[in-house]
Amino acid sequence: MNTLGGDDDGVLIAGGGHAGVQVADSIRAADPDVAITILDDNIVVPYQRPPLSKSLYAGPIDPLPLRPQEFYARARIRVQQGDPVTGIDVAGHAAILRSGKRLRYRDLILATGARPRQAILPGADLRGVHYLRTVEDAAALQTELGTLQRLTIVGGGFIGLEVAASAAAKGIQVTLLELAPRLLARSISVQSSTWLEQRHRNSGIDFRLGTSAAQVLERDGRVAGVITTDGGAIITDAVLIGIGSQPNIELAASAGIGAGRDGVPVNEYLRTSNPAVWAVGDCAAFPFGASRALRRIESVQNAIDQARRAGTNVVAASRGQALTSYGEIPWFWSQQGTVKIQIAGLADAGSCHVFERRYHDNKLSYLLVQGGRLVAVESLNAPADHLAARKLLAASKPIDITRAVDPDVPLTALLSAASEPQLAG
Ligand code: FAD
Repeated sequence: MNTLGGDDDGVLIAGGGHAGVQVADSIRAADPDVAITILDDNIVVPYQRPPLSKSLYAGPIDPLPLRPQEFYARARIRVQQGDPVTGIDVAGHAAILRSGKRLRYRDLILATGARPRQAILPGADLRGVHYLRTVEDAAALQTELGTLQRLTIVGGGFIGLEVAASAAAKGIQVTLLELAPRLLARSISVQSSTWLEQRHRNSGIDFRLGTSAAQVLERDGRVAGVITTDGGAIITDAVLIGIGSQPNIELAASAGIGAGRDGVPVNEYLRTSNPAVWAVGDCAAFPFGASRALRRIESVQNAIDQARRAGTNVVAASRGQALTSYGEIPWFWSQQGTVKIQIAGLADAGSCHVFERRYHDNKLSYLLVQGGRLVAVESLNAPADHLAARKLLAASKPIDITRAVDPDVPLTALLSAASEPQLAG
């Protein structure tokens, strides 16, 4: 047996993204002694993903590090890159790397993130078809955007819309195909969706709703057009596919944890069915809300807050102390051209009453209310509303909707000063 580098009483973290780096940081803050190793399949220093879809026109794509290089040495966190974890020997408490090395662990944290969902259609592998998840993807897309005139985007999710808005602002003819009848149908209310669609249409984006790509056409070995599922044809120079992502669960599944699920199932402490294995971030499905149904959330907030909670729980468990449940209010942001969208809370918009709080046409929030309680706030160029909304949601009190929709009443005024909660992050 080739056992190298691991510590029987140490922590191994599979994945060096937002969640993996934060969990290492949080464990070190709670335990100055435990050995911590991040195992990441990348060869690039752990970096932030959000700028990849927002900075395509802001100069060369350089990875924005999650922490300065010296952080890892100072915190005594080993980072081993380019040799992914390919298996887990749960009985032997060891991670198996692609190189064949075995590293022993006391606790293993899965922070393996997600990858773009691949489109299965003829021509999807042609030159000029792009996905956007990594710094390499962003660099390739940026090079392409520098020369093309027409871009077709498949999928009206956040990444597709962010790229669509910046490309359209640079004069590129953008066509966006979305299978659902509206944009961001799974993430925001009809009201926000309609407002956003109108804004983007005014900027020149050609939306084709209720349709998707059926085939990518080729000329001279690269993309030349797209045939849509409703029989239309679009001439294009490149295609960006943004149809969602799928969690990297194979590692957990191969160890008998959550095979076939959308995410690695964890309990409220972010622990899997194996007490020595935890999961956080994009790859984890955790019990959410009143129903406690397992849910996977893809956001920086979720990755970081879960990592913080898992970090303190890993240390508490090693000391036989009580664990603390994860229950942060989710929040998310997206920058689409000149529109800043911020969402606090998570709601099934279809079952909510939606109230508008409008300052003017370009700055407003939609308040989603269920059973007299605020469950989510979608702020469109209204960052102060977003911050106040996070506090209001954390307070979880019935709200006075007449005051809440009045833009002359700050949303924070709806909190009683005595019970104002602190925001994390
Ligand atoms: P990841 O960041 O995916 O990190 C997982 C890491 O694990 C990767 O480095 C991966 O290579 C590695 N890995 C996978 N398998 C293995 C293995 N077997 N062994 C070793 N390493 C492995 N969120 C927001 O809140 N706001 C935004 O504006 C926003 N914009 C985004 C823009 C883009 C282009 C993308 C792609 C995402 C964006 N997100 C945004 C989402 C956010 O980046 C993710 O939710 C976040 O990165 C999740 O962090 P994570 O650590 O769970 O996963």
